[in-house]
Amino acid sequence: EQWVYSFGGGSADGNTSMKNLLGGKGANLAEMARLGLPVPPGFTITTAVCTAYYDNGETYPGGLDAEVDAALKAVEAETGKSFGDADNPLLVSVRSGARASMPGMMDTVLNLGLSEITVQGLAKKAGERFAYDSYRRFIQMYSNVVLGVKHDVFEHILDDYKERQDYQLDTEMTADDWKEIIVQYKAAVKKQLGKPFPDDPREQLWGAITAVFGSWMNDRAILYRKLNDIPAEWGTAVNVQSMVFGNMGDTSATGVAFTRDPSTGEKTFYGEFLINAQGEDVVAGIRTPAPISRSRADALGSDEAPLEEAMPKVYEELVEVANTLESHYRDMQDIEFTVEDNKLYMLQTRNGKRTAAAALKIAVDMASEGLINEEEAVLRLMPGQLDQLLHPTIAPDAKRDVIVKGLPASPGAAVGKVVFDSDEAAELAEKGEDVILMRVETSPEDIHGMHAARAIVTSRGGMTSHAAVVARGMGRPCVCGAGTLQIDPAKGVFRSGGREFKKGDVVTIDGAEGEVLVGAIDMVQPDLSGDFGKLMEWADRARRLKVRTNAETPADVETAKNFGAEGIGLCRTEHMFFDAERIPVVRSMILAEDKKGREAALSKLLPMQRGDFAEIFRIMEDRPCTIRLLDPPLHEFLPHSEDEMAEVAKSAGVSVDTLKRQANELHESNPMLGHRGCRLGITYPEIYEMQARAIFEAAVQVAKETGYKPVPEVMIPLVATQKELDILKAKVDATAKAVFSETGTELEYLVGTMIELPRACLQAGKIAESAAFFSFGTNDLTQTTLGISRDDAARFLKAYEEQGIYEKDPFVTLDQTGVGELVQMAAERGRKTRPDIKLGICGEHGGDPASVMFCDSLGLDYVSCSPYRVPIARLAAAHAAL
Ligand code: PEP
Ligand code: MG
Repeated sequence: EQWVYSFGGGSADGNTSMKNLLGGKGANLAEMARLGLPVPPGFTITTAVCTAYYDNGETYPGGLDAEVDAALKAVEAETGKSFGDADNPLLVSVRSGARASMPGMMDTVLNLGLSEITVQGLAKKAGERFAYDSYRRFIQMYSNVVLGVKHDVFEHILDDYKERQDYQLDTEMTADDWKEIIVQYKAAVKKQLGKPFPDDPREQLWGAITAVFGSWMNDRAILYRKLNDIPAEWGTAVNVQSMVFGNMGDTSATGVAFTRDPSTGEKTFYGEFLINAQGEDVVAGIRTPAPISRSRADALGSDEAPLEEAMPKVYEELVEVANTLESHYRDMQDIEFTVEDNKLYMLQTRNGKRTAAAALKIAVDMASEGLINEEEAVLRLMPGQLDQLLHPTIAPDAKRDVIVKGLPASPGAAVGKVVFDSDEAAELAEKGEDVILMRVETSPEDIHGMHAARAIVTSRGGMTSHAAVVARGMGRPCVCGAGTLQIDPAKGVFRSGGREFKKGDVVTIDGAEGEVLVGAIDMVQPDLSGDFGKLMEWADRARRLKVRTNAETPADVETAKNFGAEGIGLCRTEHMFFDAERIPVVRSMILAEDKKGREAALSKLLPMQRGDFAEIFRIMEDRPCTIRLLDPPLHEFLPHSEDEMAEVAKSAGVSVDTLKRQANELHESNPMLGHRGCRLGITYPEIYEMQARAIFEAAVQVAKETGYKPVPEVMIPLVATQKELDILKAKVDATAKAVFSETGTELEYLVGTMIELPRACLQAGKIAESAAFFSFGTNDLTQTTLGISRDDAARFLKAYEEQGIYEKDPFVTLDQTGVGELVQMAAERGRKTRPDIKLGICGEHGGDPASVMFCDSLGLDYVSCSPYRVPIARLAAAHAAL
């Protein structure tokens, strides 16, 4: 097995297809070297070494040393420098590089190879001051990352020294000053660790390699993997690469760029850079960088010279490299570069992270440019990302009271209370509060707070600062580099433009404009035409699975139709009874002592229901509508407070005491498994008869009025046996017959059942004799299969997820190996009895991308989900088919 892969000098052992083995960075460095681009030579130690290292009690596989030695020799030959040499020393960077990008999560060491001897060689080449400044930086970084010495140890030494010399800035330090600092730094390390700072470059190299592999298991990397579904088994690779210096003076620079705008997707060369700086300075967001192109500088109103003017030759070459990379990879690239003494070097390229809006625009544009085809374009947008496009932005005519304006780092709008601390953000969010995380800058330690927050604001850092990159990845609106914002955590206030606000004040963030606004501001729905419409049309062309919606109010049904719902998969009729006017009638129906009392209430409900259904049929036109007969967990409808009791008693014309007794009799210890669903129809058939009548009368009415032919699909919930279905279906059929003969109009209709109990899955073959369709109610099916209550699961499911017992919340993502197997079995048994049986799913899982893919693999006819998830399901269904 080959453990080490070299790159540089126009060739490489690896290539871009080897991401699993070489990590993203290593595979793309190899590919860039092959393309003949200016990549500093180096080598990649594979992810397989990481895995072997952890599998074997943190020891390296045999033969690794020899391969590293050989690869290092090759780098020496390519650069003409040698490692540890006094005259012309080779210095290297050591960086992590996993299969998926994990920005800032793992360790990096720069300037490695500097020692008492080699620093002299560097001084000869780049000047004494530069060499000793680099050396002390290296000591600090290596001691921190590899040896675990805290930064402030070094900061104290430097601050003291500057004070004694009466210096204000680091730039006042001379070479001799740095030499003195180095002596003190080394003494501090020795004091703390009981052994000297390593002066042998080879020892340094192995220390750094081990630290990078070790950082795969640090807390923030583990959390990041969890949030991003990255398995621990993947491991990281380690990239060792010859150093180039962007901080050798004003002819040097470092920067990052995107081949298209990662916020909007616009086809403009987009990026930022810093003169006389090292790579980490840009990403860390400590100095605010300048734009690369003139057009971007104008758009931002920046008065710093863009790279285009500061280094026109380099800019030209960079644009050419960017074009080469984009057409080679056929995707938007995120590149890192360094300029050492006017010479351009490429340090990284990868497919750029982007907002959902940018992903959409780039996919559609690239398809129009002919760079990719329509199916590839569909695959470029992740279904889960769509969420960001479907969510509100600030109303264009809303009054804006701007607290501060920064950079538009990640679009979307959000409202919440301001907090200054990530732990606090996480705690409040846990309690259900909407919070906005406001900080000077963010670091990888803030990930949990950023995730918990609705939006992020920073006062420092550019469009590629940590805050900006991470927020875009998470889909959180973000404003960064809001320079006039002063945050004072000690006093619990923030200020800008002479105004002061308190922690906890409500603000609105407009990520697209880069603004922080006073108060909670009106939002508007996003535009679903244009690129969105085009991509969804391509997705629709590709998919087999149909997508319906779970909706009952006219507004929701309308929204779902606009989002492309092809029918209603679940109309929960009990939800139609929740409004203030109806609930007393429903309560008197539930609390009626006899059939007569119930019928009186039902006769009031009939016209209301008929009106509802007519409205739905009108909106859905010829699309199929599945209407579920009443399935109320009774406790949701019973009066609880004294006030409610009094009110219901009054409207039902009984005493409060009688009512209390009745309510008591109806009390259930486990209402989710209680007098619900078809059990209600079995005991009180008149309820289902009323509903069936309302459905058929409404369908006939709308058919007569409009000429559409509604096909009602009447659905019986919570069925466990064929017999239940037979009894209730007979009532529905009889009601249909009666309505058709009364009105002289006959319509097509179906009667089917929900499958939401394990027994129903087992008996699916029999049940299908009576059911024209099955709709899998995977909420209840999950509850009843796992024996975990839907209402009470939240309290302990988190622990189950954390311990990997269930990888994901099974009420969100279908438990494929348990519940999924029952669904599969029921589908097969149902089809065997009735080959043309219609099969769908209407549990929450119908809008979860992974579950949609699974439903497609079972050959279900449709998924049904809440209106906002309809586009997500359409796209997921397309991904499943492609
Ligand atoms: C289900 O159980 O999956 C379902 C859709 O019904 P409800 O959520 O209304 O119980
Ligand atoms: Mg159910």
